[in-house]
Amino acid sequence: MNTVNGGISFWYASEGLPTPREPLPGDASADVVIVGGGYTGLWTAYYLKKAAPFLRITVLEQKFCGYGASGRNGGWLYNGIAGRDRYAKLHGHDAAVRLQQAMNDTVAEVVRVAAEENIDADIHQGGVLEVAYTPAQLARLKAFHATELEYGEKDRELYGARDTAERIRVSGAVASTWTPHGARLHPAKLVKGLATAVESLGVTIHESTPVTEIKPKHAVTPYGTVRAPYVLRCTEGFTASLKGHRRTWLPMNSSMIVTEPLTDDVWSSLGWEGRETLGDMAHAYMYAQRTADDRIALGGRGVPYRYGSRTDNDGRTQPATIDALREILVRFFPQLAGVGIDHAWSGVLGVPRDWCATVTLDRTTGLGWAGGYVGSGVATANLAARTLRDLVQQDSGQSGPTDLTTLPWVNHKVRKWEPEPLRWLGVHGMYATYRAADRTERTAPSAETARLARLADRLSGRH
Ligand SMILES: Cc1cc2nc3c(=O)[nH]c(=O)nc-3n(C[C@H](O)[C@H](O)[C@H](O)COP(=O)(O)OP(=O)(O)OC[C@H]3O[C@@H](n4cnc5c(N)ncnc54)[C@H](O)[C@@H]3O)c2cc1C
Repeated sequence: MNTVNGGISFWYASEGLPTPREPLPGDASADVVIVGGGYTGLWTAYYLKKAAPFLRITVLEQKFCGYGASGRNGGWLYNGIAGRDRYAKLHGHDAAVRLQQAMNDTVAEVVRVAAEENIDADIHQGGVLEVAYTPAQLARLKAFHATELEYGEKDRELYGARDTAERIRVSGAVASTWTPHGARLHPAKLVKGLATAVESLGVTIHESTPVTEIKPKHAVTPYGTVRAPYVLRCTEGFTASLKGHRRTWLPMNSSMIVTEPLTDDVWSSLGWEGRETLGDMAHAYMYAQRTADDRIALGGRGVPYRYGSRTDNDGRTQPATIDALREILVRFFPQLAGVGIDHAWSGVLGVPRDWCATVTLDRTTGLGWAGGYVGSGVATANLAARTLRDLVQQDSGQSGPTDLTTLPWVNHKVRKWEPEPLRWLGVHGMYATYRAADRTERTAPSAETARLARLADRLSGRH
């Protein structure tokens, strides 16, 4: 079978790679310089320019806008945010409920702006369906569902086996939870449309311009330095390659496969007419979507991390990972055993040491950053961007504190990751343990979460 491996992602294979913008021509100045042209950087440029059209904003992107996770992800625009439970412990339940409410609103906000800016990103608001297919997963699913209700999601549903199958016929699924706060989208179409929208507002974007160092009021590149009172780092999974940031956020890999387009007969056997995004309750969880052109795109962890915080080579993934993802696909949908896998790819996302997403503006230096979304960044990047806008406006005296600047993830501090080889051993040990726990839960069914997984959670600082 001919599976394309890499080439950034299937989304670019279907869309075509963008025509590159000009690199930085030499030293320059701006009011705000944004490093990284993914969702975080572009949304930040968008909202800042909309709020204050007089601002001179420059985006510096090492390759092209959407080269990173924003052009490679699973297209789950959903309301999950990494670290909410920890923020509840640190700042109280009500603060975390406000954060969750802001995330629920963010899904609607992305859909709204995409429509307003004529960005056709194949958005379909079918919600998110997460299934359980072992007793231990069922127990976790019920606990997860109850927790989400406590965080104010009154419109979430819990389904038994029959109602789950009414939506999507996942083999062996015993239950599921569904939230309307989610949509399926085409990641590269969103990021491409966003870059065009931002540029048409008057933001300057330079591509093929790697920033080698960020310091107060300076973004340094091989072609010149951009000076600005505010320098915002929006480099998520690539942050480790910046000087001084090797241990800030760990670049975690996520890999995906996409099937060939499936026939109407196959679709009528699968259901999935609501085009919900689909996930599970495994420790090493999977995520999937039904694409606009009727394929299944499915992702999971694969090899979790490369030694020394290296990132990938234009999206290539390991053959063993492709096999592992195909195995999940066929376990979920046995009728797809012979189906072609057209494309496989991978990308990196940023994981902080305490697994909590953050957005920060250091008022003494003018340095800001957002990220560490741990795989839930499609919507979160938008909330981060609106928050960075408010923080910059507050700092420059254009506004006071807002509902967003007082959310509990703002200005959260976290320690760095351990040096190698501890980082590599820790992450690989954790995922090997998760996979073993998933196997145990499948083969020796008990409603108890495997002890191994609980231990891995505690050791990794995840829960
Ligand atoms: C395979 C995969 C599947 C995912 N699926 C989902 C999903 O379904 N739902 C979800 O919510 N989240 C998902 N995520 C996570 C989500 O995609 C990211 O959290 C989100 O896209 C992060 O956006 P960002 O702009 O912060 O980072 P990125 O999109 O990674 O953008 C960072 C940009 O900065 C540029 N850059 C890096 N270093 C420099 C430098 N030194 N100088 C200049 N430019 C630089 C990069 O080239 C890149 O374009 C997934 C991630 C991956 C990898």
